[in-house]
Amino acid sequence: MRASQYHINTLKEAPAEAEVTSHQLMTRAGMIRKIAGGIYTYMPLGLRVLKKIENIVREEMDRAGAIELLMPIVQPAELWEESGRWTEYGPELLRIKDRHQRDFVLQPTSEEVITDIARNEIQSWRQLPVNFYHIQTKFRDERRPRFGLMRGREFTMKDAYSFDRNEEDAQASYDRMYDAYMNIFTRLGLTFRAVAADTGSIGGSRSHEFQVIADTGEDLIVYNPDSQYAANIELAEAPCLINQRGNADASMQKVATPEMPKCAMVAEHLQRPLTDTVKSIVVTAEPANEDESAAIYLLMIRGDHELNEIKVGKLEGFERGFRMATDDEIKAAFGCSPGYIGPVNPKAPVTIIADHTVANMSNFICGANEDGFHLSGVNWARDLPEPEVADIRNVVVGDPDPRGGTLSIQRGIEVGHIFFLGDKYSKALQATFLDTDGKPAVMQMGCYGIGVSRISAAAIEQNHDEKGIIWPRAIAPFEVVICPMGWHKSETVRQACEKLYQDLKNQGVDAILDDRDIRPGVMFADWELIGVPLRVTIGDRGLNEGLIECQIRAEGQTHKVPVENGTTYVL
Ligand code: ATP
Ligand code: MG
Ligand code: MG
Ligand code: MG
Repeated sequence: MRASQYHINTLKEAPAEAEVTSHQLMTRAGMIRKIAGGIYTYMPLGLRVLKKIENIVREEMDRAGAIELLMPIVQPAELWEESGRWTEYGPELLRIKDRHQRDFVLQPTSEEVITDIARNEIQSWRQLPVNFYHIQTKFRDERRPRFGLMRGREFTMKDAYSFDRNEEDAQASYDRMYDAYMNIFTRLGLTFRAVAADTGSIGGSRSHEFQVIADTGEDLIVYNPDSQYAANIELAEAPCLINQRGNADASMQKVATPEMPKCAMVAEHLQRPLTDTVKSIVVTAEPANEDESAAIYLLMIRGDHELNEIKVGKLEGFERGFRMATDDEIKAAFGCSPGYIGPVNPKAPVTIIADHTVANMSNFICGANEDGFHLSGVNWARDLPEPEVADIRNVVVGDPDPRGGTLSIQRGIEVGHIFFLGDKYSKALQATFLDTDGKPAVMQMGCYGIGVSRISAAAIEQNHDEKGIIWPRAIAPFEVVICPMGWHKSETVRQACEKLYQDLKNQGVDAILDDRDIRPGVMFADWELIGVPLRVTIGDRGLNEGLIECQIRAEGQTHKVPVENGTTYVL
């Protein structure tokens, strides 16, 4: 590729609405352009990144034995009625009508269509196992589509669906996908972690998320570096954090940073603060739908020494975030004063708290630091043995984990999610086959998503500096850029650049030659912003000594390399 024949249009400023780094940098680098809220054009540079991600995903899916097909974006409502999700899915599901007033959806995911395919295509156990996938546009009418490709409304997902004869085989399919995902995210060059996860509205019983580690991530991950344990904090039945009134703000910041776990554990305090001291807990929650304003829910524990009654109420009119309710507001809403309050995880659906029995309150992890008491609800990976309540009491974030080591918290961006579905969809849609005994049996399913477009944003959240993006080489729009110093003036420079460019092309390296008539400073700034991992600068002065300059974007230092070693260096 030659820059003069390509479309490069970098911007000095990011749009004011771009809140996260990846959104700012992708816009400035000219990779995406917004068309409407959460809907973007992938510009040529952005599309290159997307295609590279897709290729790695496709190669590893194929290697794991999955088979590619392509299902439609527009899907008939009837299938969604059959699964029950026409009513269950909520406002994220975009429903449309055709000219005959028939209902359709723009697919947010494809369980229904693939299960329909399977029930029509698969008659015999001999056709199983099978795993179909596609890489397709999704539409989810997200409530807050404000983070660029991180949370688009229209976005690209790879989704795969496995069908098996029985649960044992289906678990093996799940494991194969787990391994494939490990390979995919390793090849993408990202720092990530697989964590036990909630199954959400898709349903099912076993689930892992693949989280790209980044301080700006929306998810909180609890993990033990010394053992296999890692879980999304959402798995907690009621994530919350209690803190002594007055210190709530400080603790809120703490939970958002890795320092938070440094609280000292007091195992017995799990009971003590709840019974003796804590009279009430306040948790913020996202509104269930767009019309409802964010609410603060109060969970009141009655009884002086026993947790024998829990009351759940709701306080209207709060903005999302961590503003504390005043004493008066709480009194007005619930007729009591709070002892300790402090919201933590705004994603926690509070209705679950209402379902809690007192016994389940033990599923919290409790700790204390100089600020006061902390109580955060962290549950256990569903595929690890459920610990006894007694065990849980001995665990706290930042203190020893009874199984060895310590627990810590990190922020992550969910880039992949795998679910064991069992017969949830196959039963509803009657996807059966004839088993070895000649009798019909219901297929066992799994589903496996990867946020292809989100990965590009997550890679930037994880890898950038003040100059711009630093792409992992595997997904960079170009692997190397050749920057001539004096392209339009020096024949020697032109020849050296052309030679290196052709050599690299012959070796299969994705190189771009910047033959634009622009100042070196502008040229360098463009490529630093765009984030090409390797830059080769070729000028008369260096060539006189037989040298070219190579700069690795992530390091910033320049290495002088003999001109004849240029290709080898890049490789
Ligand atoms: P989130 O919790 O971020 O809303 P999700 O749990 O709803 O994601 P899944 O249903 O698990 O998403 O979909 C599979 C993958 O699709 C996710 O792991 C994520 O990488 C990606 N994804 C989901 N929603 C979006 C979105 N709005 N924009 C971009 N990618 C998305
Ligand atoms: Mg979602
Ligand atoms: Mg999620
Ligand atoms: Mg998910």
